[in-house]
Amino acid sequence: MKIKIIPDKCIACGLCHIHAPEAFDYHDNGIVKFYDTQDQEKTFPDAPSLRTAVKSCPTGALKIDKDI
Ligand code: SF4
Repeated sequence: MKIKIIPDKCIACGLCHIHAPEAFDYHDNGIVKFYDTQDQEKTFPDAPSLRTAVKSCPTGALKIDKDI
């Protein structure tokens, strides 16, 4: 599954890291980034924790790319 982050929509609430700390980390200002890359999209093995993290984002800053 491919996940995109849209940092402009992130309000630094921290929920995505709670659900999927293996995937999501934050810049010093609290805005979301992937744990191990500065890229704004990344492919992961499908995992419930990732789907929960994406669903939990209150602002739509995380998206699953359904075309992949
Ligand atoms: S759940 Fe959404 S708004 Fe909250 S920190 Fe993660 S990306 Fe940002």
